[in-house]
Amino acid sequence: DSRSGPTEVTSAGIVDNDQAEITAHPAQAFGSDPLTVRDTDHYTNEYVKGFVEKWDDLIDWKKRYESEGSFFVDLLKSRGVKSVLDVATGTGFHSVRLIEEGFDTVSADGSAEMLAKAFENGLNYGGHILRVVHADWRWLNRDVHGEFDAVVCLGNSFTHLFSERDRRKALAEFYAVLKHDGILILDQRNYDAILDNGFSSKHTYYYCGEEVTAEPEYVDDGLARFRYQFPDGSQYHLNMFPLRKDYVRRLLREVGFQRVETYGDFQETFTAEDPDFLIHVAEKN
Ligand code: SAM
Repeated sequence: DSRSGPTEVTSAGIVDNDQAEITAHPAQAFGSDPLTVRDTDHYTNEYVKGFVEKWDDLIDWKKRYESEGSFFVDLLKSRGVKSVLDVATGTGFHSVRLIEEGFDTVSADGSAEMLAKAFENGLNYGGHILRVVHADWRWLNRDVHGEFDAVVCLGNSFTHLFSERDRRKALAEFYAVLKHDGILILDQRNYDAILDNGFSSKHTYYYCGEEVTAEPEYVDDGLARFRYQFPDGSQYHLNMFPLRKDYVRRLLREVGFQRVETYGDFQETFTAEDPDFLIHVAEKN
């Protein structure tokens, strides 16, 4: 099967393998030159229905619970957190988990499609009625009212912002919805490892089993284009900004967070030398 062949990032950052011949999914509207799509507003075109549904069908939430463990829940409980704003709800995995753990949770996302799926998932997984808010992070406070003990932005979501201005704006909005002693938990892929060491097939990420693989197809300082492949041969892409760890830490401090701690963690089934994911915990006070 050619799809399991080696994947190597060349010195120019271009992944050189035969998988590039498989065409991208037309519904995602990346246009004729996908590598030029470096735009914060494009995320709503990327999470199209087929992609989202396939993802949720294949990734068993129970397995995801197990592979993620209780890291976030323990962290929130140890800080005495009661209310949480999930700003990157997606299909609702973290929101549902938080509700089940007793947190007073509000679920926001900039994609109406994602929120619809999250609401449906909430009902299916335990009959929970999610409190959903359709809001882009850059204007979060226009749509989300009230103050929270914690804001969570999980599942490598912050990477969708393509300009520093958007990143600063979003972080300032997260800061503003927090109580005076609130915390922000924001995770990201370990892009330093990808940018500095390149990728080999050994670094393929299998999401909770071997059903879905995620690999970078192209990487440079301003773009990490990942390809997601499903067992039926279909594939989808996400264009993301490769956030360096120290850069994110600096931004968090510059928007006003007083203390930032960064953890390395393994959330998927594959373990590499470097952690796959980094988790920043930023304290407002
Ligand atoms: N946390 C979920 C998980 O781990 O399954 C979903 C993560 S998904 C990778 C990223 C989510 O962030 C998407 O649902 C997307 O719509 C949302 N998103 C990306 N950019 C956004 C923005 N500027 N404002 C609001 N939501 C955004």
